[in-house]
Amino acid sequence: METNYTTDGMVKKNYRCSLLGHRFVETKKVNNHFSEFECKTCKMQVTNDMRGEKITLTSKLKDINETLFYLNLKKQFLSKFYFRKD
Ligand SMILES: [Zn+2]
Repeated sequence: METNYTTDGMVKKNYRCSLLGHRFVETKKVNNHFSEFECKTCKMQVTNDMRGEKITLTSKLKDINETLFYLNLKKQFLSKFYFRKD
């Protein structure tokens, strides 16, 4: 199967981003410190690091965020339980 990439639009959009900067919107809140963002223009995905700086969202980082996300859910779930007991 032949994959015909129509990269023309993408390149132009990326060019726009390099000129004007990305327009990130939050796509997923991992916890209070981490979120995932996607550029509305070029669909580039980023996350933030410990210092709050945006870094490219690699599949490895995605895995880490996923783990953090579920750990956070677990923590919230557990804290709910503990508060009920008080
Ligand atoms: Zn962009």
